[in-house]
Amino acid sequence: MAQYDVVIIGGGPGGYNAATRAGQLGLKTAIVEGRGKLGGTCLNVGCMPSKALLHASELYEAAVGSEFAKLGIEVKPKLNLPQMMAQKAESVEALTKGVEFIMKKNKVEYIKGWGRIDGPGKVVVKAEDGSETVLETKNIVIATGSEPTPLPGVTIDNKRIVDSTGALSLPEVPKSLIVIGAGVIGLELGSVWKRLGAEVTVVEFLDRILPGTDTEVANAFQKILTKQGFKFKLASKVTGAAATDKQVKLTVEPVAGGEAETLQADYVLVAIGRRPYTQGLGLETVGIETDKRGMIANDHYKTTAPGVWVIGDVTSGPMLAHKAEDEAVACIELIAGKAGHVNYDIIPGVIYTSPEVATVGKTEEDLKAAGVAYKVGKFPFLANSRAKINHETDGFVKVLADAKTDRILGCHAVGPNVGDMIAEICVAMEFGGSSEDVARTCHPHPTRAEAFRQAAMGVEGWTMQA
Ligand SMILES: Cc1cc2nc3c(=O)[nH]c(=O)nc-3n(C[C@H](O)[C@H](O)[C@H](O)COP(=O)(O)OP(=O)(O)OC[C@H]3O[C@@H](n4cnc5c(N)ncnc54)[C@H](O)[C@@H]3O)c2cc1C
Repeated sequence: MAQYDVVIIGGGPGGYNAATRAGQLGLKTAIVEGRGKLGGTCLNVGCMPSKALLHASELYEAAVGSEFAKLGIEVKPKLNLPQMMAQKAESVEALTKGVEFIMKKNKVEYIKGWGRIDGPGKVVVKAEDGSETVLETKNIVIATGSEPTPLPGVTIDNKRIVDSTGALSLPEVPKSLIVIGAGVIGLELGSVWKRLGAEVTVVEFLDRILPGTDTEVANAFQKILTKQGFKFKLASKVTGAAATDKQVKLTVEPVAGGEAETLQADYVLVAIGRRPYTQGLGLETVGIETDKRGMIANDHYKTTAPGVWVIGDVTSGPMLAHKAEDEAVACIELIAGKAGHVNYDIIPGVIYTSPEVATVGKTEEDLKAAGVAYKVGKFPFLANSRAKINHETDGFVKVLADAKTDRILGCHAVGPNVGDMIAEICVAMEFGGSSEDVARTCHPHPTRAEAFRQAAMGVEGWTMQA
């Protein structure tokens, strides 16, 4: 029986980063993954393939619409969807192989198969051929991730009614696509297919898009998407779906009550969220219980069972790859007797649409609810020279700072490339920085990052470029 310091179940950003850190710290480590490839949801059917399609579809739309022509570039673009899908698959393959290489480099044993806990310190791995291997270990890290949440009454067949995985590989551009759920995944994948030519309608239960995001940013973003051609049906509840092999009919009712209506589309994407994945994990053998949503609770990544730890989407907190990654490092460092820690106040969230949305820290609604006195600095991309020259003027940056101490409490932005630039605010916040720290930091010109500086200047009322 093989003996380990750490056995990690799940090879996503939580699992493979935990394995890497464990290897670096000299722990004898195995990573168990059932899907046949490392990288988890993120690399295989999440972050990376969606970004591959977002990138390609953005360029296609720029070429096919008036954007290229406005810049003096005249082309006759033709969509080659199989090639778009092939380049996505190639990049994903290269990334998953890259993770395998990192495992080898850090002397982590990669075991293919589905793992299940079989009592304290024991993991049984069932390979594709049905054979079983027993691993004995001092620590088990559960990093089994999440899966799409199903919607009662709407059966996902991944033909006409698809989840996010299906929407990453549609065989054709739909004439019409209904997205159920106005969250990150729905708006990103809706953007992909809209840019490629689909008419996209988003149906959302709440009366707003992007729940939890700063309301001013979410409202501005909705207006921008509407200008791009998105249709929104908010405060609406989908109660049923009937699919034929050509189209789907959806029954939709106003949440407040009223008459139901039928919407028709070529395809429907169900994107109402994700839920923790613990199927067949043997949690009962170590007495771990999940909550109503299927989530495993943690206290500094410890579960209720001694020697069993949990990180990533399967436990509490935002379901994001970088959150899983940070928890992975902290968890392994705690296992190794070090001081692992994650600052949950500074986990950025990005929506990789065009323009992007990026947020970190408290929203204005959070601060109001907590009774915190704060100041706001805001700067529009319309007044940013780089955005102006690139014809990307939609959006703004908003910096929120403590009214007394000036410490940055949050930053929310919609605009070009804000997903990359929010990192500077994360660093400032991690150092306990003030809006003045950012405002007095020299920023390169002409860059869109200057909009963040100008917004920070705005907190004390000395924005200079607007
Ligand atoms: C379409 C889409 C786009 C996304 N885009 C982004 C983005 O841009 N940025 C971002 O931060 N996040 C994004 N996410 C979310 C991100 O993918 C997840 O937060 C992240 O993958 C979570 O990592 P994890 O390691 O916890 O779990 P996962 O990545 O889900 O990995 C868990 C792995 O465990 C394996 N597994 C499960 N049970 C077992 C078992 N018993 N034995 C062996 N293996 C098992 C699974 O096969 C899976 O590979 C996106 C998600 C989707 C669906």
